[in-house]
Amino acid sequence: MPELPEVETYVRDLAPLLQGRTVTGATIFWPRIIAEPNVEQFMDAMIGQRFATFGRRGKYMLLGMESGDTLLIHLRMTGRVIVYAQPVTPDKHTHVVFDLADGGQVHYQDSRKFGRLWLVTDPAFVLAKLGEEPFAATFDAAYLVAKMASRTTSIKALLLDQSIIAGVGNIYADESLFLAGIHPARPGNSLTQTEIERLQLAVQTVLTRAIEQHGSSLGRSGIQNYARPSGEFGGFQEEHKVFQRTGEPCITCEQAIQRIVLAQRSTHFCPHCQQ
Ligand SMILES: [Zn+2]
Repeated sequence: MPELPEVETYVRDLAPLLQGRTVTGATIFWPRIIAEPNVEQFMDAMIGQRFATFGRRGKYMLLGMESGDTLLIHLRMTGRVIVYAQPVTPDKHTHVVFDLADGGQVHYQDSRKFGRLWLVTDPAFVLAKLGEEPFAATFDAAYLVAKMASRTTSIKALLLDQSIIAGVGNIYADESLFLAGIHPARPGNSLTQTEIERLQLAVQTVLTRAIEQHGSSLGRSGIQNYARPSGEFGGFQEEHKVFQRTGEPCITCEQAIQRIVLAQRSTHFCPHCQQ
């Protein structure tokens, strides 16, 4: 699933491709992809919109229009946005097509169909419940200490909670906990101040490096969960220390990486380095 680094890569890749281009037509092949407003209103309202600004909040892409409206896109499991220079016949996984004034097209593809698009005047309508951005000045150890203080839930589950930290998912939670040397099953309120400080820094360090590497592309039988708009893959999977490395030696201590399930998610850690 695309997480913060993958979505950030998308926003940065799409900005030069879409900036200043105008939508002249919208076709929806799978109505449930459109979350807000209804499909008819969405198609009508997209026509004439001109892409102006490109941002991200958590795992949401925020494509700001010259009109002041915002197109939000959440890629969820397998969503992709591709920009073509000329009209292209949609494949079976293409659920939304925007025609552009210069003859280009934007395709939203999603084999699992869990992704969603919103066109809203105020993004807060969608984003209200999100917690802190990992790179915000307000995301500090004091914030995390306050959020963890009364929580007996595992630190892994708390890192995945989008109302605490926006944008961290399964990959970057595991990698951050490894870097901080914290066992993923530890209850949130059992972490010391020093551990929380290490974890806050680890989250930022891991996400920064992952953005530099354009995110992580994970292959299963040749199918990638994530590719950039250009079709290129991210490179951070080559630097994963624990994620999906079950049974392989820890890069620090050479003990075998273990896999457990926490919060219904596969969780990877080193039993020696993360006690
Ligand atoms: Zn280790």
